[in-house]
Amino acid sequence: MTALEQLIEALRRLPGVGQKSAQRMAYHLLQHDRPGADALAHALQQATHSVRHCERCYTFSESPLCPICQDSRRDARLLCVVETPADQAAMERTASYHGYYFVLQGRISPLDGVGTREIGVEPLLARAADGQVEEVILATSFTAEGEATAHVLAEALRVRGLRSTRLARGVPVGSELEYVDLGTIAHALVDRRAT
Ligand SMILES: [Zn+2]
Repeated sequence: MTALEQLIEALRRLPGVGQKSAQRMAYHLLQHDRPGADALAHALQQATHSVRHCERCYTFSESPLCPICQDSRRDARLLCVVETPADQAAMERTASYHGYYFVLQGRISPLDGVGTREIGVEPLLARAADGQVEEVILATSFTAEGEATAHVLAEALRVRGLRSTRLARGVPVGSELEYVDLGTIAHALVDRRAT
């Protein structure tokens, strides 16, 4: 394989990038943006060498404990379980959650051979049983796999006498009911709360 072909192959590994886009990116970098290409190569190398998983919550971190786990002002009674560091970042952007996190290594997917061991259920159970956590908030996605993962986790936590809650499913903020899909309205009705 030529160096150009190797670059295109490497770019194709990125999610959502097919042969054509990989080619376009490679040509662009080599033809119009050599400094950008060098910066990209450097940043990738830096990141793969220095970014690890936090020892406590398993999110990406450059130190043994991530900044959130190091922050003693957060509410130790709350532990929010998410599927990915990206989901954790989304929760953080809401600025309405002040507890700690546990980042799973994905979600249970029997067809792909991903089970409780692969996503890190044991470390989560150990973390949740630290004596301070009073509520584990299951914030896995609302897909079939995310729901299955939440179900398995809730059961495992319950067996150990730990309380878990699930994010409510509801009508998006700023939306008009007539344009919301029926599944979402049905779930919002089930998850309704007192006013
Ligand atoms: Zn952490």
